[in-house]
Amino acid sequence: MIDFELNETQQQIKSFVHMFAEQMVRPISLVADRDHGLPPEFLARVNEMRNAFTMGAIPKEYGGEGDGAGGKDKKGGRSANLTAAIGSEEMCWGDAAVVLTLPGPGLGGPPVRSMGTPEQQERFFGVFQKPGLHWGAYGLTEPGAGSDVAAIRTTCVKDGDHWILNGTKCFITNGARADWVVIFATVDAAQGRAGHRAFVVEKGTPGFRIGKIEEKMGLRASETAELVLEDARVPAANLLGGEDSYRTKEGFMGAMKTFDSTRPLVGAMAIGIGRAAYEHARDFVKEHYLLSRPVPRYRAIAERLARIARRLDAARLLVWRAAWMADRGLANAKEASMAKAYAGQAAIFACIEAIEVCGAPGAAAGSDHAFLDKWFRDIKVFDIFEGTGQIQRIVISKRILSGLKSF
Ligand SMILES: Cc1cc2nc3c(=O)[nH]c(=O)nc-3n(C[C@H](O)[C@H](O)[C@H](O)COP(=O)(O)OP(=O)(O)OC[C@H]3O[C@@H](n4cnc5c(N)ncnc54)[C@H](O)[C@@H]3O)c2cc1C
Repeated sequence: MIDFELNETQQQIKSFVHMFAEQMVRPISLVADRDHGLPPEFLARVNEMRNAFTMGAIPKEYGGEGDGAGGKDKKGGRSANLTAAIGSEEMCWGDAAVVLTLPGPGLGGPPVRSMGTPEQQERFFGVFQKPGLHWGAYGLTEPGAGSDVAAIRTTCVKDGDHWILNGTKCFITNGARADWVVIFATVDAAQGRAGHRAFVVEKGTPGFRIGKIEEKMGLRASETAELVLEDARVPAANLLGGEDSYRTKEGFMGAMKTFDSTRPLVGAMAIGIGRAAYEHARDFVKEHYLLSRPVPRYRAIAERLARIARRLDAARLLVWRAAWMADRGLANAKEASMAKAYAGQAAIFACIEAIEVCGAPGAAAGSDHAFLDKWFRDIKVFDIFEGTGQIQRIVISKRILSGLKSF
């Protein structure tokens, strides 16, 4: 049974992260957007508190807070995914690029955790216990393979106790700064998904280099890089799970399983931005409309606010359900896609409506509404990465229809 009451740990994380977002993140948000990066002193400060922010991404046995980070639910079950969703919404209310740039394994964490052997997990998660700033990254997308994951063309060929990788990955978050990147490659493109392999490619690997850094419309403070593999020599010990695990199509399934826990999180992040825009518009209306505008117009504006709030609330419920299911190890591909698809749309709606509610100044970047301009640019990508809205709807419809005997 889903319980909407947050446990003590979750309440503490929610209020701590909100306070951090309000006092530390918002003040640097516009400058970080302008400068295309976070100030180094801010990153160092965040790094000191990394266990509070990685929210379970690093398992306990490798020095993180693992499952314990979310506290336990009333029956003693895991709640790390739900807690991460709650924390991510609050942090993105401050600035979404900060969440993506937090030191830690990032999107590279889930595949190492779900596919890696105990030795690999110790090696790659161990990196984050060393002094200094460390990142992991996730390299699946290629110039010709985004939504169609099965179409990746980066090749891997076994050569003694190494694999030789060739190909290009694009749009990789934290790709240039990462200590290691989980790279998906294929032994034989004709085999489709069965040919996929996942490697941890470490910085400094011969033949592995950073390509261009993307200039983006939004999330500008988050680094998005192209990665080039030219006869890159990757030790066989870096093949996630070892060779035997791929006899059962684990490579592709590993990539897909990752999405079941990360898609609700991306939904939660979108809600954080949408909520920020909504609250901005709500406060503006409270301040400017109540006494100075004719009543019919005020009512119409108030209804618009109610519509935004309703959609954001519905999105949060979908996100919490999908995260709750992930915590229990329940199959949640459909629910994760529903959460991500709906939250992205609800948050885009919130950002557009917030600008309109504030009138012409709402679209003026240099005005009191400068944040609205930024959130409007930031939000679109939440309907693109981790699978576009169209792809989520395909996943949902396939799951719905596969349950029918005939249609
Ligand atoms: C800021 C940012 C950060 C990112 N970070 C990462 C990262 O860290 N790691 C990583 O691997 N990738 C990352 N990505 C890549 C992202 O996951 C892809 O952009 C996304 O999967 C879409 O792929 P694509 O851009 O190739 O679009 P395409 O797949 O070419 O799609 C183009 C359009 O066609 C639609 N479409 C495609 N197939 C179908 C279909 N079968 N039916 C209906 N419509 C369809 C799509 O919905 C979309 O509207 C990032 C992207 C961005 C913008």
